[in-house]
Amino acid sequence: MKMRLTIDLKACAGAGTCVAMNPQLFRVEDGKGVVLQDVLEGEEAIQAAMDVAECCPTEALLLTPEAA
Ligand code: SF4
Repeated sequence: MKMRLTIDLKACAGAGTCVAMNPQLFRVEDGKGVVLQDVLEGEEAIQAAMDVAECCPTEALLLTPEAA
């Protein structure tokens, strides 16, 4: 299973909660979050991203199914 991780830049407040939780997957550049790996594969990687998405204060992190 593959999921695409994106950030809704209009919603992102750039506060960096995602970076604090998972610096391997996110960084903040010019006040907006950036995804370092946009296609995630495997339950563990997807679950880790979902955990961060749930903590994003503006619900800007989006996970959508990626066609194989
Ligand atoms: S936690 Fe959410 S609002 Fe904060 S920088 Fe990351 S994506 Fe943007």
